[in-house]
Amino acid sequence: MSNSKNTKPEKIIRSLLYKNGYRFRIHKKELPGKPDIVINKHKTIINVHGCYWHYHGCAHSNVPKTKTQYWIERLELNKKRDFINKSKLIKLGWKVIDVWECTLKRKNINKTFNTLERLIIA
Ligand SMILES: [Zn+2]
Repeated sequence: MSNSKNTKPEKIIRSLLYKNGYRFRIHKKELPGKPDIVINKHKTIINVHGCYWHYHGCAHSNVPKTKTQYWIERLELNKKRDFINKSKLIKLGWKVIDVWECTLKRKNINKTFNTLERLIIA
């Protein structure tokens, strides 16, 4: 498990956006939380969350069976930080879209991208 940038789910979304003609910046340091994907033209930010590290609550975000309390606190903290950064970005006038890793499975991917695109151009 890794918390590093340039995760696989993020790469999937980036390549789909690029193929569909969107141009964007990544990990913009000047913005709260260094958002994953920034589309200036649409004043839109897309954050691609790994279900585990961002504590989605789906089947992919089970807390380890050992040191459970430690992990719950740590993951809750990640979630709180996500929420604070998102609020800041919205205040700055950005549209913020969250994409979850579990919606990027092969069978869902087109549907997920269509939804994403509707949100971007809305
Ligand atoms: Zn999930």
